[in-house]
Amino acid sequence: MCGIVGYTGGRQAAPIVLDGLTKLEYRGYDSAGVAISGDGGDIDIVKAKGKLKVLCDLTDGGKKLNGLCGIGHTRWATHGEPSQNNAHPHCNDDKTIVAVHNGIIENYTQLKAKLIRRGYTFYSETDTEVATKLVDYYYRKYNEPLKAISEFALHVRGSYALAVLFKDFPGEIFAIRKDSPMVIGYTDGGAFLASDVPAILKYTRNIYYTDNHEIVLLSKEGVAFYNLDREEISKSATVISWDAEAAEKGGWEHFMLKEIHEQPDVVANTVNYFLHGDNLDLSELHLSDDYLKEIDRIVITGCGSAYHVGVVAQYVFEDLARLPVTVEIASEFRYRNPVLTGRELVIVISQSGETADSLAALREMKARGVKTLAVVNVLGSSIAREADSVLYTKAGPEISVATTKAYSSQLIAMYLVALKLAKLRGTISEEYFSTLKKELTLLPEKIKTVLENKSVIQKFASEMVDKEDVFFIGRGIDYATCIESSLKLKEISYIHSEAYAAGELKHGTISLIENGTLVFGILTQKALVEKTVSNLVETASRGAYIAVLADENVDGIPVKFDKVFRIPHTDGHFSASLAVISMQLFSYYLSVLRGNDVDKPRNLAKSVTVE
Ligand code: GLU
Repeated sequence: MCGIVGYTGGRQAAPIVLDGLTKLEYRGYDSAGVAISGDGGDIDIVKAKGKLKVLCDLTDGGKKLNGLCGIGHTRWATHGEPSQNNAHPHCNDDKTIVAVHNGIIENYTQLKAKLIRRGYTFYSETDTEVATKLVDYYYRKYNEPLKAISEFALHVRGSYALAVLFKDFPGEIFAIRKDSPMVIGYTDGGAFLASDVPAILKYTRNIYYTDNHEIVLLSKEGVAFYNLDREEISKSATVISWDAEAAEKGGWEHFMLKEIHEQPDVVANTVNYFLHGDNLDLSELHLSDDYLKEIDRIVITGCGSAYHVGVVAQYVFEDLARLPVTVEIASEFRYRNPVLTGRELVIVISQSGETADSLAALREMKARGVKTLAVVNVLGSSIAREADSVLYTKAGPEISVATTKAYSSQLIAMYLVALKLAKLRGTISEEYFSTLKKELTLLPEKIKTVLENKSVIQKFASEMVDKEDVFFIGRGIDYATCIESSLKLKEISYIHSEAYAAGELKHGTISLIENGTLVFGILTQKALVEKTVSNLVETASRGAYIAVLADENVDGIPVKFDKVFRIPHTDGHFSASLAVISMQLFSYYLSVLRGNDVDKPRNLAKSVTVE
């Protein structure tokens, strides 16, 4: 959500900052701005509402701004409408302190009132202007930037990745973060700061992940880290193994289409990383077998699609490992007062590892003494660092806002943990354990088969392009796939849709079915097919247009159904991994046909770092 970039070194800063911001566009934003400190320390600020292109045009790709040190920002408005005035950077009255900020300053109203009493005037509606002026206030008081930043941190509540330029310290960027992501990089050519690695990967692979409340000082000589007492601390860099191309479109029309097609590889990477031949090795998780045998319940939490992975996993864990599982929406869970015995394993799922509500839920659980496992894609992210153990999914950078490959790799991660638990608890036979492991290794090829048939889905999407309401229904794991399919459709095609447990529709919502309403049934759970078919027939009787997506081995589909799509057979526990691919394609093609911005859908951000 929003992007921050900073650079200081031997080169012109503006083009580097703008280029970095374009790599963060996927995160979602509504306005953008840069601040460049020129010769003598004077700071130029340019900002614009709308796409980065507007800002790039205004500054001729940054060439109009002269200076070797700068910061930039793409804003996803939380406080104040998207406008040029509210766009970052914000500054003090004499433009000697300029800042960009990602996150929310929760006590900004009180701080603002206090600053107004001390003579400050505010020109925007943002919490960020308050943050900037708070730094100004402490800088005037202590005349020392590190002290000003640490006082800022001690007085604000909320989340922030904050980068500040001081006119008195030309060539230096001061930064701090709490609960909003910020990575730092350094090469001979200078020092970099960004919300995410792709923004600076072109320049360096040596990345420092900052922790909460660490102050960073970037200069062309290097980077230095301090705690809030302004004592220097040492940190080691992580070397990023994937390259910049992984985060580029590489000839595909959209990142989403590229990422959909990466799924066979991503699933294979995640499976093969943990499954060597017949050996399922989760030792990297540092969860001992003794501990895993002791668990008496699993709680899975996440937001959006990550939550939907949890819903699939609930069926898989319960059926295979015979453990009670609850799945919790992180934004609800964090404020509940759940009854816990301390013998639960809490699994937090998040692609970015920065999802604010999931991070808060994780902290809440840790504070209650419950063990946590993070299923995360981004190395070194907050959730990964703070959880007791981490299972990294091997999806590579996911750029499109609507998740596809990260969702798929999270499913695999959950299957692997379920298998491990089932084996340890002796709830499945040795033979079935082997069958399931084998089946996991076959998934990539089967996903490829689904992708090869994409033209059928594309054609169907073109027939459905004018639909305004779509219902997805299924039972068991098929219901779990329905909720993800429905979200995907809403996110990028802006078509209203609902996902219903097939048996539930008649308890009210069936009243919405009219002549021609598209009802999409998912049929992969053999034991439940007849039941779902009956529910589909009920909607057909009320005029619905019926499409079904079915496992190739499923029979008993009435001929009167309007469309039938087949996917390869897999073990029922893993069928979401195949069914979801067709549904991703369906949403993708509808979005394209309706002329939407597929990779950056309206109102959405990739990594939701605010509550
Ligand atoms: N809360 C700040 C604003 O509304 C920052 C939003 C962001 O993270 O982009 O300006």
